Amino acid sequence: MDDKEGAKIPLRLHVLKEKNQVVFAEANSDFVDTLFSYLTLPMGKIVRILKTKCDLQAGDIGCFGNLYQSVENLDASHLLSEECKQMLLNPVNVAGVLCRRLKLNIDDTSPANYRVCHYLHCAKPELSLNSIAAAKCNCGREMREPMKQPGQILSLFRKSDHSTGGAFVSETGAFIVTDDLHVIPNLPTTVFELFQKLGISDLDAVDEINLNVGYKEMLTILHCSLHSNSPLTSTFVSKGSKGSNSGCLLNYEMGNSSGNGMGKMEEAAEMAMTIKLVIQKSNNKMLFAHAEENFVNFLFSLLTIPLGGLARLSGNISFGSVGNLYNSLSTLDPEKHLKSPQLKNMLQNPQLAALHISQNQLFSFLETETEYYRQTKRVFLPSGGHIQNFYVVQNQVRGFLPNESCKKLLLKDPKFKGQYARPSMFIVTPDMHVASLTKFSVVSHFRRLGIPLSDVEEQVINIGMAEVQKILKASFESNLVLTDEDIKIMTKRIKREQT
Ligand SMILES: [Zn+2]
Repeated sequence: MDDKEGAKIPLRLHVLKEKNQVVFAEANSDFVDTLFSYLTLPMGKIVRILKTKCDLQAGDIGCFGNLYQSVENLDASHLLSEECKQMLLNPVNVAGVLCRRLKLNIDDTSPANYRVCHYLHCAKPELSLNSIAAAKCNCGREMREPMKQPGQILSLFRKSDHSTGGAFVSETGAFIVTDDLHVIPNLPTTVFELFQKLGISDLDAVDEINLNVGYKEMLTILHCSLHSNSPLTSTFVSKGSKGSNSGCLLNYEMGNSSGNGMGKMEEAAEMAMTIKLVIQKSNNKMLFAHAEENFVNFLFSLLTIPLGGLARLSGNISFGSVGNLYNSLSTLDPEKHLKSPQLKNMLQNPQLAALHISQNQLFSFLETETEYYRQTKRVFLPSGGHIQNFYVVQNQVRGFLPNESCKKLLLKDPKFKGQYARPSMFIVTPDMHVASLTKFSVVSHFRRLGIPLSDVEEQVINIGMAEVQKILKASFESNLVLTDEDIKIMTKRIKREQT
């Protein structure tokens, strides 16, 4: 456990005694900072953290858990490189450096996230995502030198590392967080309005509970926020319960959440993806789909998108309470409640890490323009003389460093032509398990399900924006990506198009 995992943040809960449900919490900037940091985490990283830190099984994290497990289980020969697997299973958080300023940072990325060519005098130094099988630099040597963190580098150069003071919201801010994760500035009128809205006039009906929230609780809130509309109740009051969408005490109506261009699905690039659905005729149930690598690349790419990015794409679709957390940003003043308009923009329009975007991702995300440099430094020895050493630095901290012998690093793209997966056929189950066709026996699958071959048919469908939207929605809301109803609609459309 590192220091930050042991940190505690005070939180005051107001719980309606009769229903045993959280009305709202009064929180300081540290708590809200960690909540907003959820939005910066790519989905693959969220699954990874929940699996390793909460001992959750893939199925407990819904479709994204299954998708993640599929990448874990996929034979290396189906991916373009070992680094592709690393990229999907532990995608880089663009705001990772910033999140290190949080009092309670749940992003546990190991410091050696990137590796660089170890040769001090390399003319074409490359940087690659950490991998088990060390990648080769352009110069032919192994890229085995782990990258040092900016904090370490800054202290090395005896500058302040600015490692405290929070990340996103104003340090002096006080906030109300509703059970369904709306974040509102804490004003006396807000509290009064909330009580009024719920028809609570007798304050004796509400218990006040003072807590110190730790790492585990923040992880539980994150997990519950993906599928529940009452993550605070699920985490602190009805512990162990998975929470539900129906039991939400308060559905706080936000002001103008549609004013920032949300509310509709983004236009996607023109796409030409078709998949074949294998359907049980008697009940119109999807048994599985077979698809080429372009569809699988699209699915895998969802793991590299930050949670806030998925919330932005989803528009009106609510998934758990993540949408509320995301929409809260639009009502917060960038100067008064947040640290700056740039940070607000960063949370509202999250970028992907460099080289993470798949050509089949279909959305209009941008990759970060972070640049990396190799900084050479002389280290003077007590015995006299010196050795030369080098450090990898990002452009954000470069300004602190002496400019001499700073060489820009090339980033090694582990993908090929924007693809993670090699050309191949894959099977995708309705709950988003992806497997190579070679590892999947169709006959034994039917036998296991007890379905006669006469009851099975195949349909070709085009994957358009409507289907992508359904996949996103379903991947949060249920364990099934395509339901019977979806198939009915799609099949009808195909029939119409054919006539
Ligand atoms: Zn090299």
